[in-house]
Amino acid sequence: MPEIHIEITNGCNLECSNCTRHIGHHKKIFKMDLEMIRKAVVSLTEPVAGFPQGFPGTIGIMGGEPTTHPQFAEICKLFQKLIPEKHKRQLWTDGWGWEKYKAVIGETFDPDNIIYNSHQDTDVGTHQPLLVAAEDCVEDKELMWRLIGNCWVQWRWSASITPKGAFFCEVAASLDWLFNGPGGFPIEPGWWVREPNEFMDQVERSCTKCGGAVPMPGESAHADYDLVSPSNLKRLQDAGSPRVARGKYKLTDKVFTKEEIQEQIKKGWAPYSHRPYRVDGNLVRF
Ligand code: SF4
Repeated sequence: MPEIHIEITNGCNLECSNCTRHIGHHKKIFKMDLEMIRKAVVSLTEPVAGFPQGFPGTIGIMGGEPTTHPQFAEICKLFQKLIPEKHKRQLWTDGWGWEKYKAVIGETFDPDNIIYNSHQDTDVGTHQPLLVAAEDCVEDKELMWRLIGNCWVQWRWSASITPKGAFFCEVAASLDWLFNGPGGFPIEPGWWVREPNEFMDQVERSCTKCGGAVPMPGESAHADYDLVSPSNLKRLQDAGSPRVARGKYKLTDKVFTKEEIQEQIKKGWAPYSHRPYRVDGNLVRF
């Protein structure tokens, strides 16, 4: 993976529908303390066998919305100290704290490494329904595992670190927090140098509960609900999800046939292209 995230908080100023971090469903919001953030960064920068410079990709500050963390400026300073190469630091933000933190953001990150998505263009943006569990919506279990084995998140997005450890997938990391899972790998140097079969326990307990790998129509990122399948609704109720308590969900018991899944792929299913970007004033999808 070209990047690994450190999730400094799962708190956010927004509550988009079908959020990859399941915003609105967490009963408890975490904010990583500085010592844990230091440990997370060092786990990626320490030399390990075969990687004398540590993790060769970029290290991202991710949330939730990172600028809602009350120590955001100190976290930026810590990144400057622990990661001397500016081009290896990255920030993901909806811009909430831009005015307050503009100077320290500019000092810490190259402009190309500030990934900004306001999530405010209410007419555009779709999200993959991640709370539609693969185990509920794909009857053919061999097909389900083939889809999971090819999950686009694995080849496009990131592994990540939360207060509960290090995870092979950023969505799996959020699911572990949401459903009170056993946590990830210990946050120690070299956790990221692993063969796929070493994180199969994480795959088995996360991917079956996740809709990321299943080709299905996207939902507007601005809908007033999350699409949820029966087993996940039960889990969310057991976890005391505030968003479910407010009725902000739509239950679906749809089961996709192999033919419907193939049709979705033929139609050009591309959940990673979840929003257009503005290029010279025009909306363009990548
Ligand atoms: S299916 Fe697994 S790998 Fe894909 S997004 Fe979900 S948890 Fe991550």
